[in-house]
Amino acid sequence: MPLHADTVIRNAYLQDRDAVLDIGIVDGRIAEIADPGRIDGDEEIDAAANLVSPGFVDCHKHVDRAFAAAGERRPSGVDGPFADRPMNELFDEHYENASLAEIEANAVRAIEQAVAAGATHIRSHVGVDHVVGTETMVASLDAKQRTAEIVDLQLVPAAFGGITADGADAAVREAVELGLSAVDDEAEILVGGVDPATRNDDVPGTIAAWFDVATDYGIDIDVHVQDNGTLGHHTLDRLVEETRSRGYEGRVTASHCFSLAEASPERLESLLEAFTDVDLKAVTCYNSIRASMPVREIVESGVRLGHGTDNTRDFVIPSGTADTLEGLGVLSQKLLGADRTSQSYRWSETNAGIDLLWDLATHRGASVLGVEDQYGVKEGAVADLVVFDEPSRQWAVIERAERSYVLKRGEVVAEDGEIRPEYSAAA
Ligand SMILES: [Zn+2]
Repeated sequence: MPLHADTVIRNAYLQDRDAVLDIGIVDGRIAEIADPGRIDGDEEIDAAANLVSPGFVDCHKHVDRAFAAAGERRPSGVDGPFADRPMNELFDEHYENASLAEIEANAVRAIEQAVAAGATHIRSHVGVDHVVGTETMVASLDAKQRTAEIVDLQLVPAAFGGITADGADAAVREAVELGLSAVDDEAEILVGGVDPATRNDDVPGTIAAWFDVATDYGIDIDVHVQDNGTLGHHTLDRLVEETRSRGYEGRVTASHCFSLAEASPERLESLLEAFTDVDLKAVTCYNSIRASMPVREIVESGVRLGHGTDNTRDFVIPSGTADTLEGLGVLSQKLLGADRTSQSYRWSETNAGIDLLWDLATHRGASVLGVEDQYGVKEGAVADLVVFDEPSRQWAVIERAERSYVLKRGEVVAEDGEIRPEYSAAA
């Protein structure tokens, strides 16, 4: 007997199965995947043999800073080169001038932008410390609540001046408590941090402070490790050691890890071995990743690596549209590998290379966020899906395909790149 579904997506090309099939959705979940014509539904979407994929997992954003550089004729705060910009001061000034309602509205806009581009899961860091206070967390939590129907959002409060600075630890703890009291699922709140050497000149003290917060509240960790070269390697080694000594295997993510792109083959091997030893996860973002980042080697080592857009139009990254597909297109052209004579040169532009990048932005990202059980185009999974207007991942990346439909828990929340009005929280 044919299944009667709430919604059926007809003629969906599922790349892992290399087949065109129908997807029946009941109560927000994928109830059945079958040959075309065997499922009928109250709502019908025809994918016309184009790609249907699980939604993008955007593992790294900063929704509390969204659109901080916007509003003037030209983006503000980006007049000098990156290294000359006093980032924390720029953000302090931004937060001082913006009301809580404005920060919240910008966060909602950033979330909706990402969802319209196909993201169904987002992890966002939130800057809190003694200068900014925890209002950014209040605004981000309100934005999270207002967009709960269209996205799963994790929030990671972090002190970007360094957690050992005066008052910062207390602010982070207050933000974590605000978060935990606002969510049903405590896995949606993590603790973050940034470069313990350059922010606080105290690598062991800073890392210990992150783990103290995490273990006191029983939450996971996602920290920025942006320092280059051997300083970055040292920080990663210490993070691995602390993960092991605290019994936090599989619960820590290191974002960016630029120094992995600068390691000798031997050093890279030892670092990746250490990562896999304690299941330390990593996240990379297309705009800041180094062209020599050994993405393929990282993935092949077994390290769980996810991708984030980091697009929030702030003073750090003023450009981009929170579009994972744009990110994959840039990544495919940017990851050149070491040299032109090696096998890995421009591997990211091969069909297999794009498959791997797509995996970072979907299944591997879901694994980093700890949502992989409910995720994917499989029977029983939550129907978080994107229907593209191109026939494969490769053409979707190359053509920057239209996101014809974005489904969250089986409901079409965005169509042709726009949030459906009934699902928009933007005032
Ligand atoms: Zn960041």
